[in-house]
Amino acid sequence: MTTFLNNYLGGQWQAAGSAVHTLRDPVTGDTLAATGGAAQGLQEGFAFARTEGAKALQAMSYGQRAAMMADMVKLLQSKRDDYYAISLANSGTTKADSGVDVDGGIFTLGFYAKLGAALGDARTLTDGAAAVMSKDQLFQSQHLMVPIRGLALFINAFNFPSWGLWEKAGPALLSGVPVVVKPATVTAWLTHQMVKDVVEAGILPPGAISIVCGSSAGLLDALTPFDVLSFTGSAETAAAIRSHPAIARDSVRANIEADSLNVSILGDDAQPGSEIFDLYVDNLVRDMTIKSGQRCTAPRRALVPKALMHAVAEAAAAKLAAIRVGNPRNPEVAMGSLVSREQYDSVQHGLALLKAESSVMFDGSAQPLLDADGNSACVAPTLLGVRDADAATLVHNHEVFGPVSSLIGYRDTAHAMAIAHRGLGSLVASVYSADNALLACCANELATSHGRVHLVSPEVGKTQTGHGNVMPASIHGGPGRAGGGEELGGLRALGFYHRKSAVQGPAAAIDMAKQGSTALSY
Ligand code: NAP
Repeated sequence: MTTFLNNYLGGQWQAAGSAVHTLRDPVTGDTLAATGGAAQGLQEGFAFARTEGAKALQAMSYGQRAAMMADMVKLLQSKRDDYYAISLANSGTTKADSGVDVDGGIFTLGFYAKLGAALGDARTLTDGAAAVMSKDQLFQSQHLMVPIRGLALFINAFNFPSWGLWEKAGPALLSGVPVVVKPATVTAWLTHQMVKDVVEAGILPPGAISIVCGSSAGLLDALTPFDVLSFTGSAETAAAIRSHPAIARDSVRANIEADSLNVSILGDDAQPGSEIFDLYVDNLVRDMTIKSGQRCTAPRRALVPKALMHAVAEAAAAKLAAIRVGNPRNPEVAMGSLVSREQYDSVQHGLALLKAESSVMFDGSAQPLLDADGNSACVAPTLLGVRDADAATLVHNHEVFGPVSSLIGYRDTAHAMAIAHRGLGSLVASVYSADNALLACCANELATSHGRVHLVSPEVGKTQTGHGNVMPASIHGGPGRAGGGEELGGLRALGFYHRKSAVQGPAAAIDMAKQGSTALSY
């Protein structure tokens, strides 16, 4: 039976409407769920969140909200099997890849619950110490951070229906800010189920969480100046969002996470067969193929010393050839499907584009799919090799959102850094070397154009968290093409959901205003 993904606004589930969009199993093509068209009652629903939801959340301390979030974590953990089943059907992912989204999301929510518990009874935050502004020291300035008096609207991408919700909702709810989530339609089922479970458990006060499935029409029109918007998706949609009057005219605070042409660099100290060489190849293959390459952090550009290009291609090809692709219900399948036939077409189109300046170093499509046919959205991995690193342009401009990476040969480290910057701002750069001085030098150079720089030496080869994995203690976001956003990073994330104000006045009044606050320290 098809599940109708109805909206939850104003503390009420809306009645199922007529189906406008259909969600499908990307392997079998079966119809799974449906959403309606433009949401009704957005203005009223948003007003309810801003008044009832925010009032109830902000009546609590950080510690009380953190305890509530810890209860949500327990609830979500108890329903993991349901979420894995939805992921398998709707995202076409293997158990391991479903875990990246389902467990990654719950872990991130739990991380913020723990951070929040440490903030205890506080209700506001201070940023830095008071600055003395008069000779007699009586007139001072203190930066105070108070939770925003609006709501947080999350417009999310299709690839992380669980993590995309909880990595944003964790910091927002801890800050006392009600959330409204609009998941990408094609995989909205998992987000819907998680929100439904949380609502039915009655853990959150009415208005603290709402969901709109299906059309995005009217969402931005319903925002008011003290709301915030967190968008994850394509650069094209991001551009449309930036020009909407709510953002362009009313200055609704917006965080944008968009496309990213991340680099993974093998240092020029590596030799074939060395530990660092093997680590690089293992991680490149893993990061290319987790979630069938549908991670915004996947290494699209693999920079290797020119002389090692063929050795890396050969070693990576051997590992890629061992990855069976197909229906994730088959236990032999290590890589499932893309989320839809639309994404399949988009990946094929992108591959054809990149091939204009690259040779194919490995093409997994020669192997038959397991328990899936050509009508599924399964795509085998492809490793490309850029023919002329300096002349190539497409590889630095076009993100293929699938299991595809391009090897680019560099002459020396300065050349590798210059190539990395041609991505015009990315989420993550990783560097693999046994030379800590080289790693440090690359970190300083890459930090200017990457939100995260991930360094790997043999010493941390087994313990490092992975180029593509977003850990809540580190910020996630990148400059330029990557959208200019910043999420997570421990308590840094709370800044987005607080209004910072410089309170200037008598020292005694400032001391009173600071009562009930705690210093924001990282
Ligand atoms: P998308 O087509 O831009 O859609 C993203 C979200 O925006 C969806 O919820 C979509 O709803 C909604 N949307 C579409 N048009 C809109 C409009 N005019 N106004 C308001 N909302 C609108 O992106 P996607 O295809 O889902 O995601 C893939 C892209 O996301 C990739 O390019 C990837 O790089 C990027 N991504 C980035 C990150 C990051 O953290 N930087 C993470 C994951 C993905 P519908 O689904 O209903 O159209």
